[in-house]
Amino acid sequence: MSRHRLTVVLSQSQGKNPAKRGLEESIVAALIMEGGLDVSVVPHLYDIGPDHTGRLFLESVTGDMVLLSWLFPRAAFWVLDRDGIKGHWGETLLKPAAADDDEDEDAAEPEPPKGIGAVNVPERHIYCLDLRDSNSHDVFVEEIHRIAAESKTRHEQKQHSAPVKPMLVELGTNLTAHAAGNGALNGTHNGAVADGASNGHVTEVKFTADQLLQPPNRRWYPVIDYSRCTNCMECIDFCLFGVYGVDGQDRILVENQDNCKKGCPACSRVCPEQAIMFPDYKTPAIAGAPVGAIGSLKIDLSRLFGGDLKDALGQAVEERDRELVNDGRDAVGMSVGIPKRQADKPQGPKDDLDTLMDALDGLEL
Ligand code: SF4
Ligand code: SF4
Repeated sequence: MSRHRLTVVLSQSQGKNPAKRGLEESIVAALIMEGGLDVSVVPHLYDIGPDHTGRLFLESVTGDMVLLSWLFPRAAFWVLDRDGIKGHWGETLLKPAAADDDEDEDAAEPEPPKGIGAVNVPERHIYCLDLRDSNSHDVFVEEIHRIAAESKTRHEQKQHSAPVKPMLVELGTNLTAHAAGNGALNGTHNGAVADGASNGHVTEVKFTADQLLQPPNRRWYPVIDYSRCTNCMECIDFCLFGVYGVDGQDRILVENQDNCKKGCPACSRVCPEQAIMFPDYKTPAIAGAPVGAIGSLKIDLSRLFGGDLKDALGQAVEERDRELVNDGRDAVGMSVGIPKRQADKPQGPKDDLDTLMDALDGLEL
C-alpha cells in the first residue's frame, strides 16, 4: 500500500500585517513536525503568476491538498482551477463566526449547483480554508487533522477497491524542521513530497524558501466559479477590454487576465449567476463569499440612504465608462454589450451590499 500524505499549503497575506503573519507562523509551526503532512508556504495565491516558483510547486502537487489563504474558499478554489490546479471541492467544517450566529434563524439554503462545472478534474480533493475564520491556530490545526483523516480513509478505500502498484513522486518544496526552529516562514532549506503521479520514477525537486516566497506583483482579474456559470456569455459581451474568451469547447474563460482594469469589478455586476469573483475586492459578495450567506443578510438600504441607490447595471456601466475614458476611448454608456435580460432583473442583495460598502466608504467613518 502506498504511503499517504496530505499537502498543506499556506498562502500568505499580501501585506506584512503582524497579526496575520503571527497566525500564519503559528499554524505552520504547529503542523510542520507532524507525520503524514507536507507543509509549504507560498505568497498570496491570487498574485502568483505562471512563472512563479510557488505556482510551479502548486502544479506539482498531485494528491489531496489543503490550501489556507486570506481569500474566501470559493474564490481560492476557482483561482486554483483557473491555474490548472484542479480537484474536487473538499468540504470543510470551518465556518465564519458570523455564519454560526445566523445558523438557527432564516439561514439561506444553499442553491444546488447549476453551472457547467470544471473540466479535466483529477481524482483528488482540494480543501480551501479561510484564514479570516478564526484568530486561533488551533482551530485550523484541528480541521487539518480532520481532513487528513478523511483523506487517508478515502485513499485506503481507493487502494482497497483497485489495488495498484504503489508509486511515489517526490516533487516540490515544503518547510522542514530546520525552518521551524528558525521562524517557520523563513526557512532556508526545503524539501517536498507529493503522492500519486504516473511513471513510477522518484524525482526530487527542491526549491529554496526564497524562491517560493519571492514577492509577486499584485494582480487584478476576474475569476469564474464554474459551479455557477451557465456559459451565457453576457460577460464577454459586456467587457470591452478583451479579458474574456472561449476555449476549444466553447466554454467561457478568462483568457487575458492582466487586461482587466485594476480595482474595477464591473462585469461581476452583470453576471446573472454571481459566478464572477474579484477575490481582492472589498465587498464579500464580489470577493467570493458563499452566495447564500450574502442572501441571508437583511439590510434595508432604502431606509438607510433615503432610496438613493444605484442599480447594479448602472454602476457597472459607470465603472466600464470610467475605464474606457482612462484608456483614451469614448464612453459607451448603455449602448454596447448590455445583457438584455438584465434590464428587468430585480437587484439582488449582492448589489445592495456593495452599495452599502461604497456608501460607508464615502462617509469616511
Ligand atoms: S456572465 Fe456569468 S454565467 Fe454568463 S458566461 Fe459569464 S461568468 Fe458565466
Ligand atoms: S472588470 Fe472590466 S475590464 Fe475587467 S473583465 Fe470585467 S468588464 Fe472587463
